[in-house]
Order: sequence, then C-alpha cells, then structure tokens
Amino acid sequence: MMETGKFPVRRPTRLVRVGKVGVGGTAPVVVQSMTNTDTADVQATATQVAELHRAGAEIVRVTVNTREAAMAVPKIKERLLQWQLDVPLVGDFHFNGHKLLAEVPECAAALDKLRINPGNVGKGKKRDEQFAQMIEFACKYGKPVRIGVNWGSLDQDLLARLMDENARRPKPKDATGLMREAMVASALESAQQAERLGLAGDAIVLSCKVSGVQDLIAIYRDLAAKCDYPLHLGLTEAGMGTKGIVASTAALAVLLQEGIGDTIRVSLTPEPNEPRTKEVVVAQEILQAMGLRAFTPMVIACPGCGRTSSTFFQELASDIQGYVRAKMPEWRLKHRGVEAMTIAVMGCVVNGPGESKHANLGISLPGTGEAPVAPVYADGERITTLKGENIAAEFRKLIDAYVEQKYPQHS
Ligand code: SF4
Repeated sequence: MMETGKFPVRRPTRLVRVGKVGVGGTAPVVVQSMTNTDTADVQATATQVAELHRAGAEIVRVTVNTREAAMAVPKIKERLLQWQLDVPLVGDFHFNGHKLLAEVPECAAALDKLRINPGNVGKGKKRDEQFAQMIEFACKYGKPVRIGVNWGSLDQDLLARLMDENARRPKPKDATGLMREAMVASALESAQQAERLGLAGDAIVLSCKVSGVQDLIAIYRDLAAKCDYPLHLGLTEAGMGTKGIVASTAALAVLLQEGIGDTIRVSLTPEPNEPRTKEVVVAQEILQAMGLRAFTPMVIACPGCGRTSSTFFQELASDIQGYVRAKMPEWRLKHRGVEAMTIAVMGCVVNGPGESKHANLGISLPGTGEAPVAPVYADGERITTLKGENIAAEFRKLIDAYVEQKYPQHS
C-alpha cells in the first residue's frame, strides 16, 4: 500500500490531456459526470452540462447514440463556449460509434475524448474492424480514448475464450474470479490493440465498472498492478439515495487510499426531483473528506443529542453549508485557498468550544439549560458572543469578514 504519513500517494501513471484537463500523472483526481438529457436536444444538454460543470464536474460525458445526437455535439460545444464554459466533453459510444463518426466527423472534432466500450463495438470479425475505425477517428482528430469496460456488456467472445482457458487450468477460477479476470483482460487487450493501431499510450484511460464493491476493488487492484494508464473509477449502477452514496464511497475510498484512481464518477440514480448535480457534490465530498482535494469550505457539525432541545442547531448547520456552497463560485475567483477553510457548527458546551477552536471559524450554540449565548472562535481564539434572533445572519457576516481578511485576493 502506498501511503505517506498524511495522504495516500497516487500510483505513477501517464498523463492524458482531455481538453484543458489533465488526467493522471501529477494532476489531481478529476471529478466527472454524465448528462441524462437527449443529446439531440442541444439546449437541454448544454444547460445540463453547464449545471454539472458549475457544480464542479471537470469533465462531462454525453451519450452519442444517433445521427441527431452526433450532429448536436458541435452545437452543444459551441453553446458552452458562448457561455464561456470550456468544459471537456466526452462522447459515449456503443454499437454504432464507427458509423456515427464516419457520417458526422464534426462530432469527433468537437469532442475532447471518446469513450469506447469494447464489449459493445461489434461481434466476431466486425468487432476488430469497428474498433479499429473508432481508433482511427481518435488518431485523426487527436483525441484521447477511454476504454470503458462494463460488466453488463462484457465482450462475449473474450469471455468464451477465457472460459475455455480456465477449464484447462489445474485449478479453474470460480465464476466471480473469471468475470474479474475477463474485465481486466478486456481493458488491457483493447488498450494494446489501440496502441498497435497507432493511438499513443498517453491518450488512453481505462475503466472497468461493476456494481459490486468487492468486485470493483479487486478488479482495479489487478488493473493498477498491470498497467500505467490512468484509471477512471466508478461503481456502475450504484443505486439511489444513501445506498448509492455509501456503496460508491466504500469502493472508491479503499482504492483512492491505495493511490488508485485518477478520475472518478459517482453514478447515482437521482431520486424524483433531485438535482443531477448531486453526484458531483458526492464525488467532491469523497475527495475532500479523504484530504485528496479541497473544493468548498468544510462545515463540521456535531450530530446533536439530548442536549440540543430545538432544531435551531441543525438548521444553522444546514444554512451555513448552503451559504458557503452558494458563495463558493464568487470566492473561488477572488480568494485563493478559501476552499480549505473549516467551519464548526456545534450544539452545546460539551464539545462545542473545543471543536470550534480547531476549526478556522466555529460557533458553539447553547444546549438545553445553558445560557442562551453562542461564543464564536476564529483561529482558536474567542472573538465574540452572539445571542438573540439573528445568530445565523450575524454568523454569516463573520464568515464573510473572515474570508476577506484571511484569504488574499487573487491578483
Ligand atoms: S457537542 Fe453537545 S449537542 Fe453536540 S453531540 Fe456533543 S454533547 Fe450533543
């Protein structure tokens, strides 16, 4: 396991350029997302890409499944640039990518990366021909490729070959072991094939997505040991709500802690009326909680207990979390380093002052039976005491003042 005293050390990989974003090498772990609009609908797709990007997605993937979708891609890119959003776009191709790129070459030109699923390129002899056509487009237009294996669409010819080989082994692997081996082999063999066809080694990213946490960990450990291509991590079909978040976090945290993973996506199924951007926030929070990157000031709040008699403390924690997220686009432009700030919102005197003193800025609210005052700490020193009806508004003002004073303006 690669680990220093403080943070995990990433495994060495090649650096792949995806538009303006670096993936692998010494670049930070990149957050990705994917639209769920009909790509042929230029306005809806460009709007969602913009929302995902503003929420923090550094690369966004769009489905390219029809001629109309392929024709829409350059328009989506153009619209985003009109909005001054230079977000790298990845085209997700299955079954007909070779045809779509031949019919609409402007699509390949507008994209920043092609995602090819080696299990969905074609069958038998056609598979190699169509894969080669896709790689030729990538080479011709100078685009990197993610070879994205998915266990739901594993290359059946390769699986049949490995099953035959497995049957001849003195100790054959079980079905799970064979599936894991086939996923890794599919990614690596396709990458080697792409390199033989002329694609540069530093234009290839690999992924092998499955929906089981233990499968994902085992597969990526194996993949990481066998190549130095950057790896895109994600649990596929992670699911809805807490289940999806917990499963993704469990899998990604183990791998990231071992230095494996150069870009991540959290594939959440949005609950009805839930924003698509939630998966981006979760991905950022995984990286930030692990100390790998900082995106937004972290609000540390105690869970509350029998000492908190009202909901005011939870409301304040939620209010402050929402406030710093809303301010971040403006702060990011003006105040270098503000994303690393910590703010404590605590429910009573038991741990309140102590945790508040450890944060950059902290407030300790009164618990049941305590005097109705809320001491505020900045850099470990008590700076004021808030009371009355306007504690939330006054604490927000103190946050603004702290940011202005502590984080220098960008020149
Ligand atoms: S800080 Fe106070 S209110 Fe919060 S969990 Fe601890 S004892 Fe309960």
